[in-house]
Amino acid sequence: AWKIEAEAGAGLGGLPVYTDESTVEKLSKDFYWYSPVLDRKLKHKKADAVFAPQNEGEVEAALAFAYRHRIPVTVRGAGTGNYGQAIPLEGGIVLDLSGLDRILEIGEDFARVQCGVKLGALEKKAREEGQELRIYPSTYAKATAGGFVCGGSGGVGSITWGNLWDGNVRGAVVYTMEERPRRLEIEGADLFDYIHNYGTTGIMTEVVLALAPKRDWMQTVAEFGDLESAVRFGEALARDGGIPKRLVTPIEWPLPSFFLPLKKALSPDRSVVFAETDESSLPRLKRLAAEYGGGIGHIIPPEKYRKSIGLSDFTWNHTTLWALKADPAYTYLQAGFSPDRYLEQLRTLKGMFGDELLMHFEWVLGGGRLLPNGLPVVRFTTEERLYYIIETCRSIGVEIYDPHTWLLDNGGRGAVPGMRLRKKLNDPLGLLNPGKIG
Ligand code: FAD
Repeated sequence: AWKIEAEAGAGLGGLPVYTDESTVEKLSKDFYWYSPVLDRKLKHKKADAVFAPQNEGEVEAALAFAYRHRIPVTVRGAGTGNYGQAIPLEGGIVLDLSGLDRILEIGEDFARVQCGVKLGALEKKAREEGQELRIYPSTYAKATAGGFVCGGSGGVGSITWGNLWDGNVRGAVVYTMEERPRRLEIEGADLFDYIHNYGTTGIMTEVVLALAPKRDWMQTVAEFGDLESAVRFGEALARDGGIPKRLVTPIEWPLPSFFLPLKKALSPDRSVVFAETDESSLPRLKRLAAEYGGGIGHIIPPEKYRKSIGLSDFTWNHTTLWALKADPAYTYLQAGFSPDRYLEQLRTLKGMFGDELLMHFEWVLGGGRLLPNGLPVVRFTTEERLYYIIETCRSIGVEIYDPHTWLLDNGGRGAVPGMRLRKKLNDPLGLLNPGKIG
């Protein structure tokens, strides 16, 4: 009955509503299928309708309508998340916020934007004004600001600026799910209850992101005969405080062989480190690479930054994407290696699993320390085997942030205690993205 009412626009003030099969099906999906475990469990889940507000007033009307009818609401930005975060487990409404796409203000070191702004568009605009995003996911061309803050973690830039929890989100406007939705302006420590919330504690309509001064980045490929040398070079580069940098990504051969657009640029049988650094660092990079038994291969000069396919299109979870394109049997893990023992942990895992686990690291700043975060590509056979690998990692002190679950508590950062309380206050009927907080 509520669908008929919604289609008739009752109380929705012109808000666009879609109930046709193809729109609803398409906007009920995200990139959960990177996980064969999630693929099996989520592929049949679907909303009943899509509401596509174009402004805050329409968001408020949609939430009040859903509350009145007791309908679950799952928010969607661009739907590029990998954990089924945007999948409506219990049907109901998908609230597509991609229409809230206005850049509201570019300040001296921040941008205030509506949640549906694409990060690629924001980066472009910020760069026109002499600034750039501090951190962004490798999906920045499509991903929205709200989707990144509510469903992501970090990405390019995290080696210098940390992740979403490290002061890179300065503020947000959030709507609650109540009879009369409240408009909250969130700042400071309260933001922790909303960052990476999967839209469970409130709906973010505006966000303030910190910016950095713009730089034209040089992109380089360092090549090595073995993985360990590549990773150790990566660590030395990551720790060199004199080199401004945005990306340091060690990747084990044969993963680079899957990067088809770079085929001519990469040497065969070489593990690589993809880096984005300031141009002035080239002599230092050459010396460092030689020190670790390798050399600098392909270079994309700063003047070509963003003018052709960039190296970041092969990093973060794009590395997994290229492996999946080559062979759909691949999937991945998110692994927190110990900065003091990561080489030993790496040797143990390669010794046990060989090519079943192809290594890919991202050096990032976390809690003020440089950390070798792994996104190993895994050759999937069975769920039991996958969880055996996960348990083995954990048994040697490699933390796993499980990408094969949609539960906030089990994957990613885990729901912070404040989030549960905040959910009770902001969403008393539990209608916001139900099933994501266990
Ligand atoms: P969506 O997928 O639409 O939403 C993500 C979550 O946030 C959902 O739970 C949704 O309900 C919720 N949400 C969305 N908008 C709002 C809002 N306004 N208010 C409240 N809740 C909201 N992630 C990274 O962090 N770093 C990476 O480098 C990275 N690389 C990736 C590479 C590939 C190839 C792929 C497929 C994914 C990658 N991701 C990465 C995951 C994802 O692309 C990013 O996190 C992206 O920022 C999500 O944005 P989105 O707009 O697509 O969000």
